[in-house]
Amino acid sequence: MAVSEDVLPFRQFVLKVHSRCDLACDHCYVYEHADQSWAGRPMVISPEAVDKAGERIAEHARDNGLSGVRVILHGGEPLLAGLPRLAGIARSLRRAIEPCCDLDLRIHTNGVRLDAELCELFLAERVKVGISLDGDRAANDLHRRYAHGGSSYEQVLRAVGLLRQPRYRAIYAGLLATIDVRSDPAAVYRALAALDPPNLDFLLPHGTWDCPPPGAGLPGSTRYADWLGVVFDEWTADSRRVPVRIFESIIETTLGGASLTESLGLEPSDVVVIEADGSIEQADSIKVVYDGAPATGLDIFRHPLSAAAAHPGIRARQRGIAGLSATCRQCPVVTSCGGGLYAHRYRTGSGFDNPSVYCADLEKIITHVRARLRPDAAGRGSQAGEPDQSPARRPWNALAEAQLDELAAGFGGTEAISRLSAAQRTLRRALLRLVHERVRPGSELAAAGWDLLGQLDHAAPGAVDEVLAHPYIRTWAERCLRAASAAAANSAPQAEVGHLASIAAAAAVRAGASAEIEVPVIDGYAHLPTLGRLRAGDVASATLAVAGAGAFEVRAASGKWHVGPGTAEQDPDWEPVRELRAGDWVVRLEDTDPYRDCHQWPVTPRLTAAEAATWQAQFEQAVGLIERSYPQYAPGIAAGLSVLLPLANDEPGREISAAARAAFGAVAAALPPAGADLALLIIHEFQHVKLGALIDMFDLYDRAERRLFFAPWRADPRPLVGLLQGTYAHIGVTDYWRLRRHQVAGPEAGDAAQLFTRWRMMTAEAIGTLAESGALTPLGTRLVQGMRATVQPWLDEPVPASAEEAAHRWAAERRETWERHQGR
Ligand code: SF4
Repeated sequence: MAVSEDVLPFRQFVLKVHSRCDLACDHCYVYEHADQSWAGRPMVISPEAVDKAGERIAEHARDNGLSGVRVILHGGEPLLAGLPRLAGIARSLRRAIEPCCDLDLRIHTNGVRLDAELCELFLAERVKVGISLDGDRAANDLHRRYAHGGSSYEQVLRAVGLLRQPRYRAIYAGLLATIDVRSDPAAVYRALAALDPPNLDFLLPHGTWDCPPPGAGLPGSTRYADWLGVVFDEWTADSRRVPVRIFESIIETTLGGASLTESLGLEPSDVVVIEADGSIEQADSIKVVYDGAPATGLDIFRHPLSAAAAHPGIRARQRGIAGLSATCRQCPVVTSCGGGLYAHRYRTGSGFDNPSVYCADLEKIITHVRARLRPDAAGRGSQAGEPDQSPARRPWNALAEAQLDELAAGFGGTEAISRLSAAQRTLRRALLRLVHERVRPGSELAAAGWDLLGQLDHAAPGAVDEVLAHPYIRTWAERCLRAASAAAANSAPQAEVGHLASIAAAAAVRAGASAEIEVPVIDGYAHLPTLGRLRAGDVASATLAVAGAGAFEVRAASGKWHVGPGTAEQDPDWEPVRELRAGDWVVRLEDTDPYRDCHQWPVTPRLTAAEAATWQAQFEQAVGLIERSYPQYAPGIAAGLSVLLPLANDEPGREISAAARAAFGAVAAALPPAGADLALLIIHEFQHVKLGALIDMFDLYDRAERRLFFAPWRADPRPLVGLLQGTYAHIGVTDYWRLRRHQVAGPEAGDAAQLFTRWRMMTAEAIGTLAESGALTPLGTRLVQGMRATVQPWLDEPVPASAEEAAHRWAAERRETWERHQGR
């Protein structure tokens, strides 16, 4: 049941300040394509239009509660507006917008007029400068020429040279290159990377199915993908030292993140254009479609910007998968591609309801990049290069049909869970690489950690894998990356980034390698993930020297400790991670890792020996019960559960448990009263662990879906992913009570029957909501069908009438609460 659909606000505003240009580039979308509206516009924006634009943007930010917006001064060539006018524009916009929210002000120029005087202005007014440059001289001169045919290359290089000076470096936003497949891709990349841009954008030349760009849209032609593939490989060989937005977008969306560019992915478009005469228009790229295509019929003098947010052309680009053609909706790379740039889908007759004119190129380059994210690329591995025919055809992690169906049914054996673990290992390695590339520079500890990890990865890969499989490595990596993107790049807290050295140190200890490395001290402890922590006192870092398997020495200003295989329990300063054991099951009882607090409930401090012994006793009981009575879950949990994380509980008797998407393999729980309760919590939370890993691997639903849905077990509406997670987890819960009612007697059996009846009813209802949501991908539909096939027969199992009545009463109360919540 859908209850709401958002109209999304704009966050980026392209303001056309001058509608003519001093170059005559033949690939320019403003002058050389179908839309010729520029000819009827004033040459320069008027001060009144600038003031009104600032006012409208501020109003839009205020009405939508935005904390920040980006305004890009554009043209034509915006520098033709001249210094005094540009100064006035920057000041007017800041005056109007900054009382409401942050303003990220930029200008995008061809660069030929940029001089020191303009740079001083932009520095003073905090305007970042992006420059169009197509590559080396040969590539640039293919198109970027003056009307008399002369090259613009020298002038643009001089402009970039200015921005690279230390004084102006802070206002250097990056370079944007339009691809011409006739140029040498490696030479283009090298020429642009040599200019050290903070961002490098490669743009596909604009075109449509009616008027395809040169060499695109032809059967079997992938010239643009081949060209970009060479650039990608060159970029990778160059340690990816320059951020290239198209590749980073593919990587981010592959890893479940958001696209970084409007030209790829399923992120809702948030850009609107304000022309020099005050007209409100859709994105500039739509100019290639037909004359007048970007027009909305609105202008800032008469209309608020929110009127444009409701325009059908703009809404169409905010609907995620639902806004794409049927071909795109079935496409295995749709979450990274998103049908490409909206304009490139156009064909007379079917409008925008087509794949991109670059479809073959986009699929090929996305597959190329994804293939390099496989184990071979992020570390070691054995499968790069072969096409993968697994159900979702993601190239770096295979899941056989049978394994997918096992998981869809709610179960999953050793092999299926091992595949999920392998995918997580790949993902963690990719994240580690991102931390290395984006955050590590500036942290000596992290740099040394990365180098040591690289050496160990060759000498003792098993030890590295063991540490990297620790659930809280990913939570740490994601935290570093979030911190880096929230602040300026490379500015995540040093101790945080330095944890990379601790990870390497733990791998060295496990490998018994001889190594010496400085590790950060966090809250008074030097941490060795998977092994434990050593109290090192009030210092920032300590030196760890490994001297044989399991033996190491830590030296800090506050003292020196030797920890060896036999000394762990005797040294009060060394707190090893304890292991819970039951038969073949070995699980870490994690109460030391500094990044473990990610499960929405507070964690316990270090457990006492008596508390740890109680956990051990309950764990044995829980494992015994799972193996005996829940054999369809036991092998999968045994293969994937690596950590039990104790949660704090200030209300004795209250059941608290959780799983975190980023912490694959970990189940968090407050110690329940008995082993049977712990068994239920493990079965329940491990369902979340499995589904989270599947979501990481495959596109199960439209990630742009914004509606909220009724979840029968909750009073508040849930997003689609929350409903999917809850439903999958409750298959385990329903099954637990289904079988439990036959294992116990007396009132306990009555309670179990009631809980079974309640959970089967709610789970079946939620499965129906998911199936009818219209937001599932074909693979998601297959998953939900598998879930339904498991639950359906349970609905026919006989239960006492009293259990049925109680369950119906309970469900009716839930729905009443929900309806009250919805104000009905
Ligand atoms: S690769 Fe082609 S079919 Fe797939 S999403 Fe992109 S444009 Fe659509």
